[in-house]
Order: sequence, then C-alpha cells, then structure tokens
Amino acid sequence: MEAIFLSTYAGFAVVTGACIGSFLNVLIARWPYDASLLPRSHCPSCGSGIRPYDLVPILSYLWLRGKCRDCGASIAPTYPLVELLTALIGWLLFQRFVDGFEDLSLTTLLAWLVYFTFCCAMIVMSYVDLRHSIIPDQTSSWAVPIGVLGMVGLHYAGFEGWPAVSIQQSILGAAGGGLIMALFAILGRVLTGREALGWGDAKLMAMIGAFLGAIPGVWVVLLAGSLLASGIGLLHLIWTRRRSYLPLGPVLGLVSVIYVLFGDVLIPLFLPVSLLVEAIP
Ligand SMILES: [Zn+2]
Repeated sequence: MEAIFLSTYAGFAVVTGACIGSFLNVLIARWPYDASLLPRSHCPSCGSGIRPYDLVPILSYLWLRGKCRDCGASIAPTYPLVELLTALIGWLLFQRFVDGFEDLSLTTLLAWLVYFTFCCAMIVMSYVDLRHSIIPDQTSSWAVPIGVLGMVGLHYAGFEGWPAVSIQQSILGAAGGGLIMALFAILGRVLTGREALGWGDAKLMAMIGAFLGAIPGVWVVLLAGSLLASGIGLLHLIWTRRRSYLPLGPVLGLVSVIYVLFGDVLIPLFLPVSLLVEAIP
C-alpha cells in the first residue's frame, strides 16, 4: 500500500516536472526577446497556433513525429529534451527529499518546490546562455530574493536536510558569490583587455549563492565549475585550434544541479571540503 502511494507521488513529481518543462520551453523561447508570455504558443515556421491537445509534454512530440501538424516543419528535438530533463530532475529531487512514506509532508514538498525552482532556473539559464550568450536577469539577479525567501521558509518549516542552508549562509552566499565573480570579471578585463566574464556570470553566482549558501555551496560550485569549464575550453582548443569562449554559465548551472541532487554523496569523494564543513558551524 505504501509503495503504491509513494509511486503515485513520484509519478506526480514526474508529470509536474514534464508540464513545467513545457512551460520552460516557452520561457526559453521568449525571455531572450522580452516577449510576452501570454499569447498561445505558435509554430515558429508557419505561425499557426498549436492546438491544446498537441501541447502534451514529451508525448505530443512523439505522436506528431517531430513535425508541425499544419506545415510539416520539423519541431526542434530540444523541446521534448527540455521536458524530459525537467521531468527527470523533478523525479530525482522527489527521491532526494522523500525516502519513505513518513517523509511525505508539507515541509518536504516545500523543499522540493524550492530546489525544483532552482533547477528549472538553471535549465532555462543554460539553454539561453548557450544559444544567445546572455544570462537573463529572471534566472540570476531577480531570483536572489527567491533563494533567500526559500531558505527563510525552509528554516521556519524546520527542514534541515541537504542542500538547505541557514538564512545567514544564503545571504552570505549571494553577496560573496556575486562579489567574487564581479572581482574576477574586473580582473579578467584588466589583464586580458577583453570581457572574459560578464556581469551576467556575477549575477548568476549571486543567485546560486542564495540557494546553496557560501560554504560549501559557492566554494564547491566555483571550484568544480571552473575546473570543468577549463577542461571543456582546453578540449575545444585542441579540437578546433581556435581560442574560444568558455560557456561558464551552463557549466555553473550543471555543477549546481549536480550539487543539489548528489552533492552530499559526491563532495566527500572528490573534495576535502567535508573537513571545511565540519570546521564551520
Ligand atoms: Zn507549422
């Protein structure tokens, strides 16, 4: 009986995730152009409105065989991929917070909501940054108060599990993360004469800090993120023999989502940061 209940809730998390993923596709398509979110979705090729029954996440793409019902133009496979990824993260987060039937409560639901919001913002930010090389304010600076409020909510709800942090850590993470990246941006510009890091990265790091806290959150994400970004940059250099831009935003997004989902298991394996955590109350 318990198993049926739990799988029902897990299924609910997956379906919610897929539907939110569908909404993220709308944000991804419209935020870079500051377009309104209100009008109905249209086919980018022929402009005809998409019918409500063709808006089912993931499945619509399958039964339309990846083509617009009106003009037959291909639908980008990134649409169902974003929905699938969001559903997967929704499910993994559910597993993270609800281990057994006794864990089902408004508190764990709030934790799921806070970190699901964070991961969704990371998906939108990564996609938009990869495609347009900009980080929207909605998924960086504007989300800082949401992160701090989320920690206030979790604190008063009595949630103490990974990856929640104290309100002080959240504020310190936002300020510290933003400042460190801003310093790197200024330093990079002075040393190289080009804009290696943008203000968008600083605002993004402030947002990550608000959700993950200063220590170990910002510290680990910065360390793992810059290592991974340098690795990708180096491979790109070897492969194409061209100096390239480092997609730092998406790398920080990826590292942050992995941090939220598996950080408590992975960090002690790779970083001696657990010593640091124990040293700091
Ligand atoms: Zn069409």
